[in-house]
Amino acid sequence: MRWRSRLDCENLPFCSSGTRLKDLTTLGVGGPAECLARPVTRRDLTRILDLCREEEAPTWFIGGGSNVLIPDEGLPGVTIQTGGLNGVLWEEQDDSVVLETESGVLLASLLALSMNKGWEGLEFSVGIPGTVGGALHGNAGVEGRSLGDLVESVLLVDDKGSLAWKRRQDIRFSYRFTDLLAGNRAIVACKLVMKKGDPAKISSSVRGFINRRKGQPRGIRTAGCIFKNPCGESAGKLLDETGCKGLSVGDAVVSSIHANFIENKGSASSKDIFRLISNCREKVFQRTGILLEMEICLLGEIPHAEVAG
Ligand SMILES: Cc1cc2nc3c(=O)[nH]c(=O)nc-3n(C[C@H](O)[C@H](O)[C@H](O)COP(=O)(O)OP(=O)(O)OC[C@H]3O[C@@H](n4cnc5c(N)ncnc54)[C@H](O)[C@@H]3O)c2cc1C
Repeated sequence: MRWRSRLDCENLPFCSSGTRLKDLTTLGVGGPAECLARPVTRRDLTRILDLCREEEAPTWFIGGGSNVLIPDEGLPGVTIQTGGLNGVLWEEQDDSVVLETESGVLLASLLALSMNKGWEGLEFSVGIPGTVGGALHGNAGVEGRSLGDLVESVLLVDDKGSLAWKRRQDIRFSYRFTDLLAGNRAIVACKLVMKKGDPAKISSSVRGFINRRKGQPRGIRTAGCIFKNPCGESAGKLLDETGCKGLSVGDAVVSSIHANFIENKGSASSKDIFRLISNCREKVFQRTGILLEMEICLLGEIPHAEVAG
């Protein structure tokens, strides 16, 4: 493992080892990162990515950790947590604004800024935890609106280590999908275009989105929806009608409030959660013939043999 000795030699101040990843995820599961890198500048990010590429170290990204399942054994190689990349700039035009935000900025902070300034477009994001990078990766959204709708361009690091802006017309966004990482390793920043609006209307729209979230578990460890909605169907409804609410493995329980959420009631392991996900998927498939696709991102390898046992 040459990457480790090189990392020791370079003595990068933003890298550490052994950090428990469970503390960086909303589900509260996940073992240690062999190396955790927390870059605070774009230069830090490209330095660690260059090292990983040149030494062939496994590389993982987490932003807010609100849509990931990380193995109990932890992650080998280098896990890059982007929270320190948190710069925001903007340029106002007559009736719009172009906002440049780094990938580690919390969506909630962007929404607060927009509400404060009277910029329209991010209201849907209220209640979505996590960062801009994570939200772009999964094109996060709700009720047909998503972050991709606002994107003008995205700054990426490609597989060869070069930084380049990709324009909107060259990016595919669809429901919980983008092709941003095809041929690219990291989302560094993006430019969003928002309209100048009426602050009262923006606040009222935000309140509407908050009210519509009342049917979801709150204040409990979850990772949001586990499965994507299949075409024309609601995954939550399919899971509910299949009788999945309340199913459990260890401390992992299918929420009684919304069947597409799995709650960690205390000491659930990653394997418990994965086994529960597999059980639910199998039950829905047996009943309806629909194989639900995961929305949550699995990082690393969950040992399948143990999960199945
Ligand atoms: C209570 C709750 C409610 C939620 N509601 C919604 C909702 O309404 N709509 C919705 O879409 N989602 C929802 N989610 C899921 C989640 O919050 C979103 O998907 C969010 O955008 C993920 O952002 P994150 O920073 O936490 O990403 P993470 O979970 O940290 O990462 C998600 C994926 O993105 C990758 N990634 C992150 N940053 C980068 C980067 N800079 N470069 C490359 N790859 C990167 C990671 O490797 C991983 O594969 C909810 C989650 C919770 C807990």
